[in-house]
Amino acid sequence: MTTRSVTRTTLDHLLTEIEHRNPAQPEFLQAAHEVLETLAPVVAARPEYAEPGLIERLVEPERQVLFRVPWQDDKGRVHVNRGFRVEFNSALGPYKGGLRFHPSVNLGVIKFLGFEQIFKNALTGLGIGGGKGGSDFDPHGRSDAEVMRFCQSFMTELHRHIGEHTDVPAGDIGVGGREIGYLFGQYRRITNRWEAGVLTGKGQGWGGSLIRPEATGYGSVLFAAAMLRERGEDLEGQTAVVSGSGNVAIYTIEKLAALGANAVTCSDSSGYVVDEKGVDVELLKQVKEVERGRVDTYAERRGSSARFVPGGSVWDVPADLALPSATQNELDENAAATLVRNGVKAVSEGANMPATPGAVHLLQKAGVAFGPGKAANAGGVAVSALEMAQNHARTSWTAAKVEEELADIMNNIHTTCHETAERYDAPGDYVTGANIAGFERVADAMLAQGVI
Ligand code: GLU
Repeated sequence: MTTRSVTRTTLDHLLTEIEHRNPAQPEFLQAAHEVLETLAPVVAARPEYAEPGLIERLVEPERQVLFRVPWQDDKGRVHVNRGFRVEFNSALGPYKGGLRFHPSVNLGVIKFLGFEQIFKNALTGLGIGGGKGGSDFDPHGRSDAEVMRFCQSFMTELHRHIGEHTDVPAGDIGVGGREIGYLFGQYRRITNRWEAGVLTGKGQGWGGSLIRPEATGYGSVLFAAAMLRERGEDLEGQTAVVSGSGNVAIYTIEKLAALGANAVTCSDSSGYVVDEKGVDVELLKQVKEVERGRVDTYAERRGSSARFVPGGSVWDVPADLALPSATQNELDENAAATLVRNGVKAVSEGANMPATPGAVHLLQKAGVAFGPGKAANAGGVAVSALEMAQNHARTSWTAAKVEEELADIMNNIHTTCHETAERYDAPGDYVTGANIAGFERVADAMLAQGVI
């Protein structure tokens, strides 16, 4: 047997172990499979990575916190939600990653997100470990006062586990500027500390960084541009399908337009909008961010260029580029086949793990440039780390400076993934490149720091 096939057998054995130890956590198992399946060449080439216990430690969170979150609605009724914070890996820096408030949240979902975050954060080249948290609370349809009471109750427990040198949460689905504000207020009240670096995604004027709201979407477009550049093309004149209509989708659409491309769709759980003239991002911001409405309202107000399609799949709309920016497993094998049939050239994952394993395989086999989330959507957490740096120095940078740093980081991630893939005989395979490059950085730090 070759070294590589021995390694493959060891990794397969490990995957079976992971399945036994984590039953009923399909999203976490999917994320672990996706990474471990690409590691054989690096583990075979560098025997120190085969050291017993290294990968076993990597797939086991350092700490998992689960707690009750009781709160009262506007009518005085008591609700009980579950709170989670998975502190996955701190070899490179304090745990860093968002909080997701969505009814689909459970421990397996938070573990998948935390696991992805380890490699994503490593790829940024900055000093941040990986973590994730959230709750099965659904902010939709809740008043500001209800959201505030929920956030205060959530932070009443969370505050003892976080800190600027320990664990630094931020936003994710269902957690934006409003929620970060309430969470920060309660942290400050309980601890009696002005500790700006304990949360990122804060508002302008009280420690937030310019360009943080834009960063994930902008970064995903910059990653798509870098993949196209590698093939001798650019964004100018390209049509794009974008899913979602939250923070990531909005700033993806905005950046595509700024770079000469045209995003013709957006979506939410009720259906999608096709807008022949290109999505009007100011109108979308008004409907989604100011009024907290749905995309059908966008279509109603936009006039004849836009139509709302209830249900259905945004991936049916023909385009040169696809930027899934909603949630995990939103782009399956059938959708990937449709995209390929329609001649898609590049897919950049703005969301975390939006493409299923079957979809990724199919897109890569068809020669589509595929940017995995842990590389393509790293711009958000990267600017969070820049927000921490500004907080630490008690300063704030101009938007131009942050954007320049973001562009450099995204280009570096692209180069790292590209070169790593070539080094391990997988040219053009950004999934392998991202997994191996992220793994190398974290694994080297873990080996240096001993068995902990
Ligand atoms: N939730 C975002 C992500 O998936 C951002 C995390 C952060 O800024 O810490 O990367």
